[in-house]
Amino acid sequence: MNYYSLNNKHIQVSFQEAVIQGIAPDRGLYFPSSITPLSQSFFEDIESLSNEAIAFQVIQQFVGNEIPEAELKQIIAETLCFDFPCVPVEENVYSLELYHGPTMAFKDVGARFMSRCLGYFNRNDDKKVTVLVATSGDTGGAVASGFLGVKGVEVVILYPSGKVSDIQERQLTTLGQNITALEVDGVFDDCQDMVKKAFLDASLQHKNLTSANSINIARWLPQMFYFFFAYKQLKKYNKPLIVSCPSGNFGNICAGILAKRLGLPIFHFVAATNANDTVPQFLQNGKYEPKPSVATISNAMDVGNPSNFIRIQEMYHNDLKEFNKDFSSFTFTDEETKLAMKNIYTNSGYIAEPHGAVGYLGLKREMQNHSNSIGVFLETAHPIKFLDVVEPILNVQLPIPTQIESVLGKDKKSIKIKNYDDLKAFLG
Ligand SMILES: *Cc1c(COP(=O)(O)O)cnc(C)c1O
Repeated sequence: MNYYSLNNKHIQVSFQEAVIQGIAPDRGLYFPSSITPLSQSFFEDIESLSNEAIAFQVIQQFVGNEIPEAELKQIIAETLCFDFPCVPVEENVYSLELYHGPTMAFKDVGARFMSRCLGYFNRNDDKKVTVLVATSGDTGGAVASGFLGVKGVEVVILYPSGKVSDIQERQLTTLGQNITALEVDGVFDDCQDMVKKAFLDASLQHKNLTSANSINIARWLPQMFYFFFAYKQLKKYNKPLIVSCPSGNFGNICAGILAKRLGLPIFHFVAATNANDTVPQFLQNGKYEPKPSVATISNAMDVGNPSNFIRIQEMYHNDLKEFNKDFSSFTFTDEETKLAMKNIYTNSGYIAEPHGAVGYLGLKREMQNHSNSIGVFLETAHPIKFLDVVEPILNVQLPIPTQIESVLGKDKKSIKIKNYDDLKAFLG
């Protein structure tokens, strides 16, 4: 399978090159050059297939013959070593829990898949790569855990000092081995800017830098699996399916839209955002105007210029009429989010963390327009990851899951940096 740069269709590379480069030399995001729908019988039989069998069928055309079938199946098995339950919350409303992986964030899936692809491409030890990633919290832990011990891959994570939760910080600073955490005196945008600058820096070319953000196709594409797993569980109700994704960089929802292009019967998409409303604004007036991010309680979605939206525009031919057929985007305040968390808890006993609650709000709004529908929102992190927000709002104390307990006792190791020169000196 070839991938082209969204800046220039004539720049085409293989799956392997796209994964190793992360982003095209002209700074465009890579996009698959063809999308072939899956067979009718696949969807008819989906309830009888294992998650691994589904994932293999979904991803195979995007990998092509660049990873042999047996190895690809092994990578998928290691990626999907946990459950993806659709849990009923209200009548016709389900939470797709994506947080049962090692770091309790949905990003585990993409990070595990990507790391193992890089490990395969580096099997002869000929091309060491450095994964450079900026995190506002959740990405860093998933990448650290997903890449731990992968041969030939060094991982460097930049995070804003004092701006991530204690659990998140420990998840990215306590692993050691091939993982280094750089603690930046600044905010998330500073981390992101430094990473972008490093990718453009010719004097760092020898480091083979690549990104593990959802701009990398090997992190983005496996996120399609969730939507197939949701459909597998909800198909029996035989109702039009609405999916709501709490969205930040719009990688998840972008994968959902691609899944629909493979034939998955999703009736309508909702991209639910917090106060960072660049996309809801775009749907109102057709103008895409990135803004600086604003801080909210769903901080993994504090993104003012969502990097994957350009892929979504590609799939909808950047035409508002096409968007309007099956895509909505709504913005919610922190107050609305807190109230939703309380209401969900009071009415059903379900504990949603703030990102999931934003997804729930978007879902409920869209379902008002479709009386006979069934809806699912993605619950993108375990409530324990945001316990500072969840516990006081719901007045509960959350038990600590084993995945989290195992990092709490470990000592933090980070290197403090102030600016780009420090980063460059570190990378060498
Ligand atoms: C990253 C993240 C999101 C946003 O996902 P995108 O694919 O970037 O839109 C939502 N919730 C949580 C908890 C996250 O970590």
